[in-house]
Amino acid sequence: MATDYDRNNIFAKILRGEAPCFKVFEDETTLAFMDVMPQSEGHVLVVPKEDAAQIFELSAPAALACMQTVQRLSLAVRAALEPTGLIVAQFNGSDAGQTVPHVHFHIIPRWKSEPLLPHARVPADPAKLEAIARKIRAQLQ
Ligand code: AMP
Repeated sequence: MATDYDRNNIFAKILRGEAPCFKVFEDETTLAFMDVMPQSEGHVLVVPKEDAAQIFELSAPAALACMQTVQRLSLAVRAALEPTGLIVAQFNGSDAGQTVPHVHFHIIPRWKSEPLLPHARVPADPAKLEAIARKIRAQLQ
């Protein structure tokens, strides 16, 4: 059963350029930007440009493109921030913890000594987000 796509969700607005983001990467089919309420320093989101609320509605080519971007960004985040671990996560439906109804993949760097912050709760300092985005972008060149 397909989930109706809400064209007014915040990631749809970011994709249309109607809301701002700290962009780190963009190609024909995907966009990657900083999570504004990160669970750790360097938390990045990868979204397909295709309208899909959950993974079940995503086309196979878009899923493939997302995974390529997720791997590319994971490598860039690792090179930029040197975490000791890195989580890739993706939630479908509110029961699974999804809060924004547009498919997205979380890239969350981890350091053994630092606790994971709560999900989508603590807004980060914009200047800090931009500084981290710059470091990650530098690894993509
Ligand atoms: P999920 O709960 O898996 O749907 O994740 C949604 C993520 O989007 C959360 O980690 C939020 O912190 C993040 N988020 C919400 N609004 C924005 C925004 N405007 N820009 C960047 N990240 C956002």
